[in-house]
Amino acid sequence: PVITRFAPSPTGYLHIGGARTALFNWLYARHTGGKMLLRIEDTDRERSTDAATAAILEGLEWLGLKWDGVPISQFERAGRHAEVAHDLVAAGKAYYCYSSQEELAAMREKAREEKRPPRYDGTWRDRDPSEAPAGIKPVVRIKAPLEGETLVADKVQGDVRFPNKDLDDFIILRSDGTPTYMLAVVVDDHDMGVTHIIRGDDHLTNAARQTMIYEAMGWDVPVMAHIPLIHGPDGAKLSKRHGALGVEAYREMGYLPSALRNYLVRLGWSHGDDEVMSLDDMIAWFEIEDINKGAARFDFKKLEALNGIHMRNAGADELMAVLMDTLPHLPEGPALLEKLTDERKAQFLAAMPGLKERARTLNELVAGAAFLFDERPLALDEKASSLLDDDARALLGDILPDLAAVTEWSAESTERVVRTFAEARDLKLGKVAQPLRAALTGRATSPGVFDVLAVLGREESLARIGDQTA
Ligand code: GLU
Repeated sequence: PVITRFAPSPTGYLHIGGARTALFNWLYARHTGGKMLLRIEDTDRERSTDAATAAILEGLEWLGLKWDGVPISQFERAGRHAEVAHDLVAAGKAYYCYSSQEELAAMREKAREEKRPPRYDGTWRDRDPSEAPAGIKPVVRIKAPLEGETLVADKVQGDVRFPNKDLDDFIILRSDGTPTYMLAVVVDDHDMGVTHIIRGDDHLTNAARQTMIYEAMGWDVPVMAHIPLIHGPDGAKLSKRHGALGVEAYREMGYLPSALRNYLVRLGWSHGDDEVMSLDDMIAWFEIEDINKGAARFDFKKLEALNGIHMRNAGADELMAVLMDTLPHLPEGPALLEKLTDERKAQFLAAMPGLKERARTLNELVAGAAFLFDERPLALDEKASSLLDDDARALLGDILPDLAAVTEWSAESTERVVRTFAEARDLKLGKVAQPLRAALTGRATSPGVFDVLAVLGREESLARIGDQTA
């Protein structure tokens, strides 16, 4: 069975690139009926925090990318990593290195003079540890092959060959007995039974070094897929302004998890011309072979448009459920939650079909629904108050009794009354509808005015209109 993994370092929030990596791993696991495991790479004790781990888990859950099993802490496995390092020494595939800091500095200096990348000169590679100077705690270095090349047969990048002379005897265990990142990743992936590694292509060179460790241990190398990083719209490294943010920032901006998932999957993967996809579509279609080789460019406009489509495609109840889940995270959310009585919620739900047509984000949805929560007399925004000039106010006074006479209050019945009124006066419908909208919502834009009348109900509608009559 396929086992993928997501292996974030808990040094910050779940950023957008990490979320995409997690999504790809999760989708591939679901597509193949396998599992996606979660490993928290918390070996950097200075920079790793529990808060970051919590933010990563929360971000994954919000995106619907639930991992299988319990998250594994890399730090807690340090003993096992050291054990493998010592096994490698015992097998002659690694060795203790006693070179001092001064000696290493001299090697670096020499490399600089000769204008070549620094590499360990192999002093202790074949030297007997009995010659070791007293008082120096050794590091453990891998015995890297001196000739030939190391092949990374990558599913996205193709066959990438690294001349072994460029990969020196790198350290796998530090002198304090802690593993290096390179060793920890390999041991963990092996022990977790990982079959497929999908991660950013900034790890491609690491893949070559990691392959050496797999080979030294005689372990199978997992299938690797190094995906191109996400770039900004200008092709440069993704900046904060262009979207290099944590997923919770996207939540606060009012994006739906379904839309962000859809947007992220298309950043670097495609299925024909399909743009709008459900989770089931993605699971059914996701193949590693369809991951794009070129860098993806992040585009807020596209994300926003896609979010609008997902909002329109969602049922009113479904959207309400997402909204309730999101409100605590929206700028206006907590204040709104306080006002959201059962009655208001029912009104909101009734207005949803009209509201969601006009919103590209949940924040816009909330802004559009604000009229439901306003207290009488309504404060008018600038456009609404300029719509309500003396003539318009007189008009409202005239139509009020007609509306008050409506017995079965609905969008249809109120529309009939307003149309009849406008025709009788030879007015265009808008001439009546605009002041009505301004009086009912305090704004110049809202869902259709008859929907607004229906949602607010007879009493509240008549009262709001009455407030604005001359
Ligand atoms: N912890 C690494 C990172 O955050 C990922 C390592 C890996 O996927 O192998 O970039």
